[in-house]
Amino acid sequence: MTAPATGRRAEIAENLTALRARIAAACQRARRDVGEITVIAVTKTRPASDVRLLAELGVTDIGENRDAEAAPKAAQCADLRLTWHFVGQLQTRKCRSVVGYTDVVHSADRPHLIHVLAREALRAGRAVTCLVQVSLDGAAGASGAPRGGVSAGEAVALAGMVAAQDALRLGGVMAVAPLGTPPRDAFAKLAEVVAAVRAGHPDATMISAGMSGDLEEAIEAGATHVRVGTALLGARRVFVR
Ligand SMILES: *Cc1c(COP(=O)(O)O)cnc(C)c1O
Repeated sequence: MTAPATGRRAEIAENLTALRARIAAACQRARRDVGEITVIAVTKTRPASDVRLLAELGVTDIGENRDAEAAPKAAQCADLRLTWHFVGQLQTRKCRSVVGYTDVVHSADRPHLIHVLAREALRAGRAVTCLVQVSLDGAAGASGAPRGGVSAGEAVALAGMVAAQDALRLGGVMAVAPLGTPPRDAFAKLAEVVAAVRAGHPDATMISAGMSGDLEEAIEAGATHVRVGTALLGARRVFVR
């Protein structure tokens, strides 16, 4: 295979080395094995060629947050063995498209969405893992919370709803640390939610937490999946939440 964008490849490789060093240091502090941490490269606003370079460098978990961008990108990379993660807020009318290429939905945050995901996964004959997105900013419920997610108190019930769907697998939980709160405090709260969910669902071991700016705190709080965009691929030109 020809390798276009040699400079880009070197840039991503260098970023990946630095990222792996950060993860290793955090794991050492937390007395965890680096093998417990999966890096999800969040490739939103980035071309499919970046996904290809990441795969060549051994990063095969890819995160996207908009179906309109992710669907064609996934199609362009259909020849690669990748695991696609949908990490953005998800509208029910996008579920049919999203389950076509997504392996893990990180943003299960309301009963209706779970039912539609289950219906579409069944229809497509696809196994879809769902994470319950937990809001850590103290806002009550999904509506109005700027970054989405259910309150800690609602998470167990929603996890039960996912687990009750034959077409879905409950993977665990996901959270974004809110702005203005120390990440360590936010992730400590997430750890409590994790314990409550696991009490009823011992196989729900995935904890998707930590981004470029706070992955150390997330790893120290038990994260199994870190979602990294900027630290791997550089600053995004446009802000996409
Ligand atoms: C964009 C995004 C990320 C990655 O953020 P960086 O700060 O660029 O690492 C992680 N999680 C979600 C939900 C995102 O939308």
